[in-house]
Formats: sequence, structure tokens, C-alpha cells
Amino acid sequence: MRYVSTRGQAPVLSFEEAMMTGLARDGGLYVPETIPQISTDDIAALAGKSYEEIAFTIMRPFIGDTFTDDEFRAIIARAYAGFGHDARAPLVQLDDNHFLLELFHGPTLAFKDFAMQLIGQLFQASLSRSGKRVTIVGATSGDTGSAAIEAFRGLPNVDVVILFPHGRVSEVQRRQMTTPSEDNVHALALDGDFDDCQARLKDMFNHFEFRDKVGLAGVNSINWARVLAQVVYYFSSAVSLGAPHRKVSFTVPTGNFGDIFAGYIAKRMGLPIDRLIVATNQNDILHRALSGQGYVTSGVTPSISPSMDIQVSSNFERALFDAYDRDGAAVAQLMDELKSDGGFQISQGAMQVLQDLFGSGRASEDETSATITDMQARTGEILCPHSAVAVKVAQEQPKTATPMITLATAHPAKFPAAVEAATGIHPPLPKRMADLYDRSERVTRVANDLAALETLINERRRA
Ligand SMILES: *Cc1c(COP(=O)(O)O)cnc(C)c1O
Repeated sequence: MRYVSTRGQAPVLSFEEAMMTGLARDGGLYVPETIPQISTDDIAALAGKSYEEIAFTIMRPFIGDTFTDDEFRAIIARAYAGFGHDARAPLVQLDDNHFLLELFHGPTLAFKDFAMQLIGQLFQASLSRSGKRVTIVGATSGDTGSAAIEAFRGLPNVDVVILFPHGRVSEVQRRQMTTPSEDNVHALALDGDFDDCQARLKDMFNHFEFRDKVGLAGVNSINWARVLAQVVYYFSSAVSLGAPHRKVSFTVPTGNFGDIFAGYIAKRMGLPIDRLIVATNQNDILHRALSGQGYVTSGVTPSISPSMDIQVSSNFERALFDAYDRDGAAVAQLMDELKSDGGFQISQGAMQVLQDLFGSGRASEDETSATITDMQARTGEILCPHSAVAVKVAQEQPKTATPMITLATAHPAKFPAAVEAATGIHPPLPKRMADLYDRSERVTRVANDLAALETLINERRRA
């Protein structure tokens, strides 16, 4: 299995190389050269299998000869062992034909654990074989950082450094980053906002001398291995509702388009998915683009679903690449326009492809809050604000006989203020992390200064 860049100019890589590289050298994103197909019989045979067994069957064709079957099975087993639910991704019924896929039973209570936990084990397996070490550096506005720390804590060949904006993440999010005691975990509170954190991260990656010295590696949402991990739960949930004999649809709370793109890959592999609905909050660049209004940035307005507060949606480039018939030069040109003009128009042909594949909708702040209230009253299910955005958008879709599965991306206890405002209930943390508020914190406050940051990271990492 070989991986090519969406901009057509970077070297073709193996799975292992694409995973370790992250962003391609031409600025593009890696995608598989061809999409492996899974037969109807093979999908039917997934019924009744464990999440781990389904994960092995679905992901195996993408990893080529990077790992043996036994190695890959062991990696998957370690990745999901720390989840708080035996089903890993359980389905809950909301009404007649509407189901909620709970993706928040991982160690940090958000769906990013599905990808991060796997990528941690994949990195460690690859590095222990080569004897190399890497320093993972990430910038976070909350969820990604804690998911990365949980995934890499204690791994022998990795240091993990997370930059977050001082004073601007929730207490649960901060504590998840500052309480792990392993000495390869480094939480840095930067004096600045999230954009400053991202800018310094980018500076470090562009400072090649530093990058090479510390073996800088990234695990942001454009890493192909993260997308791949998310393909699995589209299969596991569809099969439990009768696939391949019955079609299903999905509604996905969307920010960087990673999660919904994984659904698209599942469909391309042969899973009978009827509709894929992109749900956005008031930061609705994707909804506007998919409604034919062009892909035009308009600034970010903070919302109660902060993990979907995005200006541009990095993984959308992967969908554009296919919609433009895999023409890397055309994608590169759109991305240049985005950079210089703040947006671009999508060609008629590509728009047709995208609209055949994806529906979309948006939920306002009031609608999101009202959906949390209503769902709690009618079903007892307490939604986080991100999941509520998607439930609202799913409810607006035309009713059909096809079951709708809405992805629930975070546990309500991660966003207690919004949930309490909507329901009057303070959502408790699951028992296994109830002592989060009692654990001692370890964090270093840093200035918004590249040289100082680089010195600190170089000193802290275990050589
Ligand atoms: C990251 C995140 C999203 C958005 O997922 P994308 O893959 O970026 O589209 C939605 N909800 C929560 C809780 C998240 O953490």
C-alpha cells in the first residue's frame, strides 16, 4: 500500500513513512493510492465480532507490510485496553430510527482517543524496531492535547510536549494534561492564545536544525493513521444495525473534517452508507461550502462546542483531491488561493461530486443548548454540546427508513458548564477518573518566545 500527497509533488511513501511524516513536503496530505475493497460477505462476517477484531480486519489492508499480523493485533489490543466500555463504541437508541454512537469511553472521554491511542502504539512499535526516539510536540485548545498525552505517556521512545494557551482551557482539560506523572510528559502553558501556540509549533517544524536535533514529530489531525483508526467504528456500528443487508446514514459533528472523512473512506471501501451529513456549529464554513457558497473563511466565533470552532478545515483537502479526480495541481492552486485570498470557489464538477457524497447542516448556540435540554428530558441521554450540534442537524434530515447514526464525540462531563446551563444537571466524571480534581498538577508556564521554548524542550526531553 502506497501513499500519495494531495498536491502531487511529494515523494510516494509507505504507511509507516506517511505516519511518521504527517504533513507532506509539498504542503499536502497523504492519502492511500487506492482504496482497499471489502466484500459484502466480509462485512457480513464482522457481525458479532469484538471491536478489536473488526479493527484488525478493516485496517489491515492499509498498513502494507509495516507490521506482521501478530504485531498488529497486539498493537490494537494495547490501544483499546484502557477504554471504559467493553464495546469500545456502544450504540444507544434515541428514537425510532435514530441512534447515538458513543465515542467518549476512552481515557480522555473524547473520540480522539480512538485515533491517538492507536497512533501511540503504532509509533512505539515502529520506533522500538529502529531504535530511534522522537519528540511529539502538539498545540491544543483542549481535547487533542490530553488525548496525545494519554496516548504517549510512559512510552520509552517518545517524549510528548503539549502547548496550551495559559488560562484558556477548561479545568478538566487542563488537569488531564497536567496530572500524568510520567517523566516523558511535558505540559507547557504558553502566555498567549491558541493561535500563538499553533504559530510557535509551526515555527519549530520550520526550524530544521531544531526539528532534526530533537526528532520532532506531529500527530495532528492530518496524520493519515488517525483517519484510518476512525474508519473502524463506522463499520462496527453499521454492522450492529444490519449492514451490509441494510443501509445506514451518519451525522458527524465536524471541525477539521477528519472524522467525517473516515466515514467517506468506509463508504469507498464498500460499506453501504446512504448519507453522510456534516454538522457544524455557527462556525459553518463547511456547511456554506457544501451548500454551494464557496469555501470562504470568515473568522472564528467562540461557541459552546469549542472543538468545532475552526477557521479552515484541514482534512477537507482530502475530499477535494478526490472531487477533483485526484488532480494534485488543481488542489495546490485552490490552497494557494485560500492562502492569498482567504477562500476559493469549487468547480461545478467537483461540487456535484461533493454534494452527491455529503449533506450538511448547522446548529446555532440556542439550538444546541435546546437539543441538550430536550434529549435529556425525553431520553435521559445527556449530550455534550458537540454531539448536540449533530443530533440537531440529524433531526432536520428528511425521515427515511434508513437508520441514522449520530456520532457523540465527547462525554458531557468534559463540558459541564454548557450541560448544566441546559439541563440543571452537573454531569459527573466517570468513576475511574473521579479523583481528577485531587491529583497533583505539573505544568511549566512559558513565554510566547520561540528560542526560549526550544531551549526548554531540548533540556526537558529524555535524551
Ligand atoms: C475534534 C472534535 C470534533 C471535530 O472532529 P474533526 O475530525 O476535527 O471533524 C468534534 N467533537 C469533539 C468533541 C472533538 O474533540
